[in-house]
Amino acid sequence: MSAYVPGEQPQDGGWVKLNTNENPYPPSPAVVRAVREALGDDGSSLRLYPSPDSSPLRAAAAEAHAFPSSRVVAGNGSDDLLNLLIRAYAGPGRPVGMLDPSYSLYPVLAAAQDAPVVRVPIGPDFRLDAAAVAASGAALFFLTNPNAPLGAGFPAAEIASLASRFPGLLVVDEAYAAFAEEDCIALAKEMPNVVVTRTLSKGHALAGLRAGYALCPAEVADVLHRVRDSYNLDRLAQAAAAAALRDAGWLAHNVGLIKRTRTRMLHELTAMGWRCVTPCGNFVLTEPASARRAASRETSAHAFEHLRSRRILVRRFPGHPLTEKGLRVSVGTDAEADAFLAAAREWTALD
Ligand SMILES: *Cc1c(COP(=O)(O)O)cnc(C)c1O
Repeated sequence: MSAYVPGEQPQDGGWVKLNTNENPYPPSPAVVRAVREALGDDGSSLRLYPSPDSSPLRAAAAEAHAFPSSRVVAGNGSDDLLNLLIRAYAGPGRPVGMLDPSYSLYPVLAAAQDAPVVRVPIGPDFRLDAAAVAASGAALFFLTNPNAPLGAGFPAAEIASLASRFPGLLVVDEAYAAFAEEDCIALAKEMPNVVVTRTLSKGHALAGLRAGYALCPAEVADVLHRVRDSYNLDRLAQAAAAAALRDAGWLAHNVGLIKRTRTRMLHELTAMGWRCVTPCGNFVLTEPASARRAASRETSAHAFEHLRSRRILVRRFPGHPLTEKGLRVSVGTDAEADAFLAAAREWTALD
């Protein structure tokens, strides 16, 4: 098997880093207070093991979503939960399903369990082929909504109708739901075969901490608790995530800023002649084009290098026809967006 290839994480400064969809703003001040408090003056709380089932985080998630806390399972990042789901429900003869394109971690996790992968293509109109998902034969299907790397969103009503027809476990990976108009939490509340996974990495600006959670049917929560590491989240991550989830005001403000910048990026790129997928997450997939160069895989590589020479880091997905002409650009601060747009304009004017 081959390892997951993460986006570049340069450890030196001086980059406008728009390649891994991190939040450009600091987390809620309540997070910093909670971490300081959990640490104490001399850090002696770190001598003690944390809550084994992350009860502070689960209680806060339950409150935030009006969801039973007994059915919330915490993960060391939502990647941990995706891995647990695959370990528990997939294997030889029990395929993992995913949309194509979507998150490239799923096949890596499936390979480790010797589980086959079935891919349901997303068409050029970015619609969800629910009939194909329902008939995919997957034991569990990862529906990334909003989709990454495209950024397109699928209507919750279509997912609800799919859930009632799909015989396996439907996992809606809602890493970007904070930036979208709809989510599937109500569905996870009702349906015995729907799990929603959430991360604190994107909307809550806590990618450095590693915290996520799954909203599950009771039986699935029970299974995940059996297979997870007994202390899968550290004390500081639990405290920080709980504080972040309790500060709904901060989240709404932050998401508002990002959506405003996203709209501006969308308009300016479109005006420049760069086609964009209507974005539902905190990133824009856009196809560089100029008078001299039509959108193509090569054009995207060329624009990528130009941006890189200006120390602006974005991400390419050259392995799929729907993404190969594009650059995926995370929505940063207004200043970061301006730096990106200026370099993009500069590239567009090159001959
Ligand atoms: C970022 C991302 C995740 C992972 O989130 P972590 O909590 O940081 O592990 C999961 N799914 C998708 C689609 C993502 O983009």
